Amino acid sequence: MKIGVLALQGDFEEHCVCLKNLGIKALEIRLPSQLEDLDGLIIPGGESTTIGKLATDYNLLDPIRALATSAAIWGTCGGLVFLATDVGRNQPTLGLVNMVVERNAFGRQIESFEEDLTITGIPGGPFRGIFIRAPRVKRVGIGVDILCELKDGSIVAVRQGRLIATSFHPELTKDTRVHEYFLNIAAQKVNS
Ligand code: GLN
Repeated sequence: MKIGVLALQGDFEEHCVCLKNLGIKALEIRLPSQLEDLDGLIIPGGESTTIGKLATDYNLLDPIRALATSAAIWGTCGGLVFLATDVGRNQPTLGLVNMVVERNAFGRQIESFEEDLTITGIPGGPFRGIFIRAPRVKRVGIGVDILCELKDGSIVAVRQGRLIATSFHPELTKDTRVHEYFLNIAAQKVNS
């Protein structure tokens, strides 16, 4: 299976380490040609405005949109913002996941927090969610399933077909269950 991690900015190295622990050698993606034949692409956390600007400069927006028709894509935190159709302000996004997102919905860096999460499709007990200046999904459109909500009702994980998005950072934990969930979606492409 060929899995890439968008390596423009943010914590892409942590995702690569998680994948390595699962026996996958991830490709660091910086150029459109590197997207060819990918079964899955992870968009890491970081600053969504910076990721959007660099992705525009490197002509990656349309090639990633095209990839979404055949491969699995997962955005974490800033990556969730970058996947959204509506982020309430003018910044470059992929517009792939039909959802309205509120950036920095839980406050500033100092208001970062952790919470035990129950996530649809992730068996084996609670998953420790790490939220760092995290976004929240305010509304989902047609075709988007909610996978996880916080105790206060905030939506923090969604799935639209082969696309998933999480407000939190599984790559900052040693728990690889969400990475495995993503790899399963990517594998369906290989087998279909
Ligand atoms: N606050 C950032 C944004 O909205 C995301 C932060 C993160 O990825 N940890 O782009």
